[in-house]
Amino acid sequence: MSVVIKPTARPTHHVARDYATNPMIVYCEMTQACVLACRHCRADAMTQAHPLELTRAESRDLLRQIAAFGDPLPHLILTGGDPLQRVDLYDLIDDANALGLRVSITPAATTRLTREVIAELKAHGVQSLGLSLDGSDAARHEAVRGVSGCFDLTMRAARLAAEFDLPIQVNTLVSTETDDDLPAIYELLKTVKVMRWSLFFLIAVGRGKVLEEVSPARGEELMNWVYDLAPVAPFAIKTTEAPSYRRIALNRMRGEGMTPDQIQRTSVYHGFGIRDGHGILFV
Ligand code: SF4
Repeated sequence: MSVVIKPTARPTHHVARDYATNPMIVYCEMTQACVLACRHCRADAMTQAHPLELTRAESRDLLRQIAAFGDPLPHLILTGGDPLQRVDLYDLIDDANALGLRVSITPAATTRLTREVIAELKAHGVQSLGLSLDGSDAARHEAVRGVSGCFDLTMRAARLAAEFDLPIQVNTLVSTETDDDLPAIYELLKTVKVMRWSLFFLIAVGRGKVLEEVSPARGEELMNWVYDLAPVAPFAIKTTEAPSYRRIALNRMRGEGMTPDQIQRTSVYHGFGIRDGHGILFV
């Protein structure tokens, strides 16, 4: 599932590393197989595994290369496609753990994501689960995700994860199709146990071209809304693919009289410069 989990919150403890040589997060797109048909899928998901998908041996070699980045080791996010489509998923999680890598996963919300699977992920040391929620009800969510029933499966997975004490990050697309629904999604998320809500501002490329980006003015409005919401929300709120958020947040912090020293201790400040290829790696 091509979504992003970010292991940061505001304020945060900063771990020194050279992002040019040692990524903070590695996203491993284990497979292109996925039974969902999200309109904006970045992974070009298809129902069957790609014939050139890495074998278990090749995947283990890749994990060794990731671990070779050295300390502090990156956080590994298993994604896809739907990582639950990999028959060797648990073996690879064990391999990653044996190499000292912390592992999170972003499964697709399908009938494969059962109570037993969530229990198994927890038992294999998975640290968190990423789920996508693009609407506050089934009609709105499934209009984006392309398969009926996946709203209920997503909400069920969120509740099961809480039952097994597995933290979840909920990823929500921000586009003209979803922007007016964001307050309702926020209210819905308050009814489940969420570690972080990540708002993905659509960049209309690839399959994302079928959806429409919010205008710059609307984006600015939403980012100010996020800034106001973040300190009072019962979970962390982050933006993704929204570099302007840093400008808005810094200006607001300065306007509120925060000192440079205080600003430098926020995750917004530490997020500067982190991007794909610099702190973040997709394979
Ligand atoms: S869940 Fe949707 S976005 Fe994720 S891989 Fe499947 S089709 Fe693509």
